[in-house]
Amino acid sequence: MSNRTLAILKPDCVRKNLIGNVIAKINEAGFKIKAMKMTHLTKESAAGFYEIHKHQPWFNDLISYMTSGPCVPIALEKDNAVADFRKLIGATDPSKADEGTIRKLYAKDKTENIVHGSDSDENAAIEISHFFSRKELLENYNN
Ligand code: GDP
Ligand code: MG
Repeated sequence: MSNRTLAILKPDCVRKNLIGNVIAKINEAGFKIKAMKMTHLTKESAAGFYEIHKHQPWFNDLISYMTSGPCVPIALEKDNAVADFRKLIGATDPSKADEGTIRKLYAKDKTENIVHGSDSDENAAIEISHFFSRKELLENYNN
């Protein structure tokens, strides 16, 4: 699993019609799409996904944002996927993100920042299984 990461095109990405732009960047950077779906998170699902942040003062804002519309989780594959994807998306706060990164290009602020990327191989495995069954991933295995 160490060559996989989970991306989510967040609700602001979908609302702004940026799904295509962001997927183009992801493909240009050499990532393969292993599984993808559009889904509208429930509060329970979003809170479970972001459980690590439940004590943050901004947790409720994060859950409201992530449940404000549909999002697009994508399981990605590439050598060094987790680190390379974090590099491609840039810092959490787009004003601090490097030039050319997805968040620098498209994100509004530290909450509405267009895209999620897993932060470790361990979390990538947990996060991929939050959205995709083993069957959904294996069906794409040789793509
Ligand atoms: P990431 O790994 O770069 O996405 O950042 P974190 O894991 O630190 O935070 C998860 C998500 O919570 C971020 O992507 C933002 O959508 C949101 N978030 C992070 N920091 C803040 C903050 O200070 N205020 C608010 N309102 N949302 C935040
Ligand atoms: Mg994080």
